[in-house]
Amino acid sequence: MKTIRQLTILGSTGSIGESTLDVVARHPSRFQVFALTANKSVEKMLAQCQLFQPRYAVLLDANSAEKLSVAIRNNGLDVEVLSGVESLEKVASLAEVDTVMAAIVGAAGIRPTFAAARAGKQVLLANKETLVMAGRIFMDEVKEHHATLLPIDSEHNAIHQSLPDRFSGNLTKDGIRRILLTASGGPFRRSSITELENVTPAQACAHPNWDMGRKISVDSATMMNKGLEVIEAHWLFNAAPEKIQVVIHPQSVVHSMVEYIDGSVLAQLGNPDMCTPIAHAMGYPERIESGVPSLDMFKVAQLDFEAPDLARFPCLRLAYQALADGGNMPAILNAANEIAVESFLEGRMSFTAIPSMIEQTMQTVTQSNVTTLDDVLEADKLAREVALEWLVGQV
Ligand code: NAD
Ligand code: MG
Repeated sequence: MKTIRQLTILGSTGSIGESTLDVVARHPSRFQVFALTANKSVEKMLAQCQLFQPRYAVLLDANSAEKLSVAIRNNGLDVEVLSGVESLEKVASLAEVDTVMAAIVGAAGIRPTFAAARAGKQVLLANKETLVMAGRIFMDEVKEHHATLLPIDSEHNAIHQSLPDRFSGNLTKDGIRRILLTASGGPFRRSSITELENVTPAQACAHPNWDMGRKISVDSATMMNKGLEVIEAHWLFNAAPEKIQVVIHPQSVVHSMVEYIDGSVLAQLGNPDMCTPIAHAMGYPERIESGVPSLDMFKVAQLDFEAPDLARFPCLRLAYQALADGGNMPAILNAANEIAVESFLEGRMSFTAIPSMIEQTMQTVTQSNVTTLDDVLEADKLAREVALEWLVGQV
């Protein structure tokens, strides 16, 4: 009998966090929840604590943590409630923890995700923003502290599954010609530029295939999500930008592909349900049940592929540019994008202003090198200020 793996879930109340708990609930003899964390959702966190009885529950927001603490006591639960970013770092790195699911959304996830890597944990990475902002620094920390990194993003998980078992970290050495990164194209795949000007947050968040948090849903609609994923793939698989080809595939059944020099193309297919990559990474190298139904090929019937349109989706171009520029630029792209998405969701600017804000911010902030996490956080902070100034200047 194996020892039970102790799991910390960063962002347990979100879309990935809930799917992770679905998988955990199917395998009570494999996983025990050690800590759950969220921003400020008291009710959801209380319900999760009742079901999974973790040692710790952390809410970033101190007032919410106070409310949770009272509710935990009133319900007679034995869960220690903490707050603040240091507590997020603590539950990601305590000695008892084996595995950390990094599923906080945005730059807010970077410090606890780094803490998990520095503590040498098995890190299941959904928080792609960490790799976008600080790819080289993060990969170095993973290596130095002998952490294990497994991708949760469906495309990167598919690529991981399609690579050789003992991937050397060098595509050419392993006979790999390129990576084909699939993208659904989002809800506006067929919309004209004029139509894009008037889309609403509700339309942008209604993804045709995937049920996700609001930020990544807007990222999918602008295709910035694919841009962030190009940068993510670059760091995870040591792939030069020209070796990563984005392929629009509206059915989201082929989750990505690896092409070898003999012409073979290996792909991972499945229903678009994040429980598959989550279960793959959680069970790795074993296969475990995810609860995802069989892929019905007769229902799928047809698989389509097309080239991305960079004129209607400039965010993808900006991400390639940030990757080529290097240094602080990917962190600036990411921060400006977070401000842009938030401003769009709050109704303060149009959908088509998203790439304008990002491009302006990238042009305004001076390019520089980043060598530490603090450098990255500094770039993030500055870019947010510049992006907000741009917005004020628009009114
Ligand atoms: P979500 O918005 O549904 O959930 C985010 C979680 O993070 C919540 O638990 C929230 O409480 C927590 N959180 C938010 N702000 C925080 C802060 N400042 N400090 C601490 N915790 C905070 O997001 P999601 O869709 O689950 O996405 C999570 C991550 O996974 C993102 O990086 C996203 O890009 C990535 N991802 C998601 C999907 C998906 O299908 N949802 C697929 C691939 C990758
Ligand atoms: Mg993805």
